[in-house]
Amino acid sequence: MIDINTLWNDTKIKLSARLQAISYEVWIEKLEPICFIGHTLVLQTGSQSSKNTIVKNYRETILEAVKEVNPIISDVKIIIESEKADCLKQQDYTLGDELVVKKVEKSDDAGFSFNKKYTFSNFVVGKSNELAFAAAQAVSEHPGGRFNPLFIYGGVGLGKTHLMHAIGNYINAKFPQKRIMYITTDKYIADYVESIRDSKTSVAFREKYRSVDVLMIDDIQFIASKQGTQEALFHTFNDLYQNDKHIIISSDRPPKEIAPLEERLRTRFQWGLLADIQPPDIETRIAILKKKADAENFYLSDDVASFIASNMENNIRDLEGLLNKVMFYSQLSGQPASLAIAKEALSGYIETKKEHFDAYDVLSTTCKYFGVSENDVIGKKKNKEFVEPRMIAIYLICDMLSVPLVSIGGIFGGRDHATIIHARDKISDLISSNNGASQKLKIQINDIKDMLYKR
Ligand code: ADP
Ligand code: MG
Repeated sequence: MIDINTLWNDTKIKLSARLQAISYEVWIEKLEPICFIGHTLVLQTGSQSSKNTIVKNYRETILEAVKEVNPIISDVKIIIESEKADCLKQQDYTLGDELVVKKVEKSDDAGFSFNKKYTFSNFVVGKSNELAFAAAQAVSEHPGGRFNPLFIYGGVGLGKTHLMHAIGNYINAKFPQKRIMYITTDKYIADYVESIRDSKTSVAFREKYRSVDVLMIDDIQFIASKQGTQEALFHTFNDLYQNDKHIIISSDRPPKEIAPLEERLRTRFQWGLLADIQPPDIETRIAILKKKADAENFYLSDDVASFIASNMENNIRDLEGLLNKVMFYSQLSGQPASLAIAKEALSGYIETKKEHFDAYDVLSTTCKYFGVSENDVIGKKKNKEFVEPRMIAIYLICDMLSVPLVSIGGIFGGRDHATIIHARDKISDLISSNNGASQKLKIQINDIKDMLYKR
């Protein structure tokens, strides 16, 4: 177990360099490390008024310094004597072990092996990610060439790490002599912290990173507020860039939104190409599901794929999670993955999601989409321009919401449940007929779903 005192002493060294001598002496010097609660370091001071001052003026600085010493610490709590007993009761004995693991973990990144599942051919390309994909391929063909640095940004679970591994796999295969290093920003920070122990480790750190042909740093947003690491990265960046080595960075946000971030680093991030990845549209989501199911030798019908896809828009990892649930459920029940099985498998999830709109919203949105009035659609008129929206709205309500058929009949001018079933099945059959008409229908249905989700 690591000694909490060692951690605190290392932190104090940093703080003494950062704070005015007098502030350091009055507020920091006398703080006493007590214990860890979760990933929070608990420090004790002498009085309530000094606690107030420290919390107000120094807590952030203390936290920053502790995190630099060991990034696993996520918070700092300042207490006074009377709170000590309570804290000790909640203290976490296991954290000490974790700290040790973090500290001794060696960064053997040269032998890093990329995930073989994350390749370009496994990556489904759509409008939302085509720029990032093309750039990643271009860089893989000519490392050190155009688009340096390549800065890929986008929300969680949208394929940034996948693309980085794909680049790694590709370059490894095509240019086996090239040294590629992939590192998460957390690890880079930990490595930097480790490196500042003495001059020998410092030199080793710099050498390690400047000696590669391609450096990939994942999730760079975590470098915000890490002053020391930013400085180190600035030098790494310059070393590599000047030698035409490629730098590839990912982030959950564009450089301008990473804060605080040294300006000179921010501008460097923008020197090459900024490629964003947006949430995928429904066609791309369906294609991703099909590809994943194929890889598992699992038959996924169009309607089940589009059902799953319509329930997850912003995160491909979660989309895969839904598919896994459906596959698992179908295997467990020994039945093929019909729409009914899929709905059952995802019922818990979908119910919470569906609260955003009800059957009336589906009706009004469908009418709006086709430019017809609700009265005409729920009425008796048999003209095609009304019948089509009527059946589609009924189908969508059955497909997306769990509303009893009689209630749907009620909404549609008192039609009986057989009529509702007929409309639902007619559209469902048309969709799966796979001809020109079905294509058009699918697009219409997806558009209406999009409108509903974006309401
Ligand atoms: P991020 O790093 O952006 O958070 P990941 O790269 O970890 O996201 O992707 C999450 C999951 O989604 C991975 O399993 C990945 O294979 C998959 N994924 C993301 N985008 C695509 C895509 N375009 N085609 C196929 N799979 C994808
Ligand atoms: Mg990632």
